[in-house]
Amino acid sequence: MSYTIDTLFDDLPGANGFHGKDILKVAQFSRDELTYIMALGERMREVVESSGGLDLLKHRLMAALFYEPSTRTSASFIAAMERLGGSVIPITQGVQFSSVSKGETLGDTVRTLAQYADAIVLRHPEIGSAAEAAHYAPVPVLNAGDGAGEHPTQALLDLFTIQQELGQIDGLTVAMVGDLRFGRTVHSLTQLLLNYDVGFRFVSPEILRMPLAIANQVRDHGAEMRETYDVHEVIEEADVLYVTRVQKERFSDLAQYEEVKGYYIVDPELLTKAKEKMVVMHPLPRVGEILEAVDDDPRAAYFRQVRNGLYIRMALLAAVLR
Ligand code: ASP
Repeated sequence: MSYTIDTLFDDLPGANGFHGKDILKVAQFSRDELTYIMALGERMREVVESSGGLDLLKHRLMAALFYEPSTRTSASFIAAMERLGGSVIPITQGVQFSSVSKGETLGDTVRTLAQYADAIVLRHPEIGSAAEAAHYAPVPVLNAGDGAGEHPTQALLDLFTIQQELGQIDGLTVAMVGDLRFGRTVHSLTQLLLNYDVGFRFVSPEILRMPLAIANQVRDHGAEMRETYDVHEVIEEADVLYVTRVQKERFSDLAQYEEVKGYYIVDPELLTKAKEKMVVMHPLPRVGEILEAVDDDPRAAYFRQVRNGLYIRMALLAAVLR
């Protein structure tokens, strides 16, 4: 089946609550909206595979404002916009050369960009910055990571990947491993998964435990949950092993970082204990947590996960801007 601009949105399941909205945190999504965006993501996959793209957002502009380094997220948003026929104002490499470095406030920067662009994608080192930008911007703001806060579009592509790889989300046991304290992707994914019937295993060294507020949210929700520092305790039961990098840039004391980096290493030996049908995910970049020797294992899904980011961001831009 090949979709056209006229048929792309026909008979999608779930609900489109995205039109004209900011995408700031995962708590804003209902399960029906998740169903919708994943179904649209699936259609975007078909569109890209059959014809490379669709001119759905022709003459639309997206500003990509990145105050923190990013490879995947910025490339993926740019690719998504361009595969939908739109264009991008990239303010990525040169933030330090722009007005931002002259001391302009975030509010003024986004109000200015909104005069040119139909949407603003923002990555910023401070928690809450996306919400602040959304307060000022008269166009939708999409949070592409606010410090150690949230990374909602990553969580959507993670959810989509689980669905694509395992065919379901309800009933799974999801083990998150590594830096659960500063890792914004696990903060967002955990909260997003509360829309489903999922069991959680949080695996980290003591100083990198999941923030209490999120662990309590999981508890209050009544979801099954266990915390441990030993990955061997969870490997046999995990349907999803979601591995993360220790977030060096968020440590004030680098000696502490040195102590905990390299705490968990996923290697072929560990995976001999895992289920035959399960999936190993990572938001990337990896810095040694998953050995390259694992890459050819059919359960290693992290590069397929990257690809899914393209489809989900196409779906999001389409849902927000059309
Ligand atoms: N790329 C992800 C993020 O921006 C994960 C990471 O940096 O470790 O949060």
